Amino acid sequence: MITVSSLLDAHWYVRYKAISKLNIRSSIYDVTNQCNLRCKGCFFFSSDEHKAAGEENDIGAWEGFIDREKERGVNLAILIGGEPTLHMDRIEAFYKRLPTYCATNGLIKVDRERFPDMMVGISLWGDPEDEKKLRGRDVFTPSSRNYTGDPYTYYLYTITPAQLGRIETMVKRIADAGLKVHFQLLSNDELVDGYSWTPELYARVRDEMDDLMDQYPDTVISSHYYHQIITTGRMLDRRWGWMECPSVTETMDGRDPKPRRLIGFIRWASDLETTHRCCTSATRDCSQCKDGAAHMSWVMVNKRAHMRSSRDLQNWIEVYEMFAKLYRFVPW
Ligand code: SF4
Ligand code: SF4
Repeated sequence: MITVSSLLDAHWYVRYKAISKLNIRSSIYDVTNQCNLRCKGCFFFSSDEHKAAGEENDIGAWEGFIDREKERGVNLAILIGGEPTLHMDRIEAFYKRLPTYCATNGLIKVDRERFPDMMVGISLWGDPEDEKKLRGRDVFTPSSRNYTGDPYTYYLYTITPAQLGRIETMVKRIADAGLKVHFQLLSNDELVDGYSWTPELYARVRDEMDDLMDQYPDTVISSHYYHQIITTGRMLDRRWGWMECPSVTETMDGRDPKPRRLIGFIRWASDLETTHRCCTSATRDCSQCKDGAAHMSWVMVNKRAHMRSSRDLQNWIEVYEMFAKLYRFVPW
């Protein structure tokens, strides 16, 4: 019988043991429907999710809700929006109760006296020229000023086809600011001209991400296997899509047969009652979805399928480690 220990040498077995005990149970929370930007291609606004529900304004209701989430077994709160930092009291309600990750555009600085070790992921959509085009302004300059040298912050760099050949410019600037970066690819929900992927563009971006990971190992938090999966839409002999996605709200998951999925995962709207289908836009064509966390989770929930060779299991470990670093379960 093939076992984990039969596939791994001592070095890899130690790495495996470090992550196998984590037992991460995440859920996602829309902290607010408001944002101080309106980016073209933002899944939240392009699919009208900001109109799906109202907002709970009573902080006591948020606290009670989070307590119930904790009782439900959630041990990682992923805060998105809208822009969560418009409501620091809601962020604090999570932070005081659960390991918390806050996605932000970085324009408003999270006070480190109040949130000393909360993981912060800043969205980045390219160099200042691209950001002006897609987000209406250069967001990187103020966000990097706000977070320079912060040990619990990284950039979530959404790469667009327009960035090809120029990704290094921003990786270097992030390295110079003493921060980390993780890559994902634009899904182009709003079909912005020139921002759709083709097989040739996927091959180029994969090469570029691989090279940058090797050139900037202290800055780029990623894995070659993740690059392969996100650019091909294939994992082992399986193709990405609705019937494979692990990041579907458990209470809305009517798939039959059910794929391996995140246990207890729910994405809540900011009225604390409404739920969304998945971690991203419900109007998105799943076969075109490039959501990075969903692809990482796809690997993570399929450990057994990766136990067919040492290399496959090592790939699985590397993706799990990457996820654990990005959500502060293990150090960089
Ligand atoms: S900053 Fe984030 S939430 Fe706000 S519009 Fe841009 S992508 Fe959407
Ligand atoms: S849009 Fe993406 S994350 Fe949502 S269900 Fe489809 S594949 Fe999964």
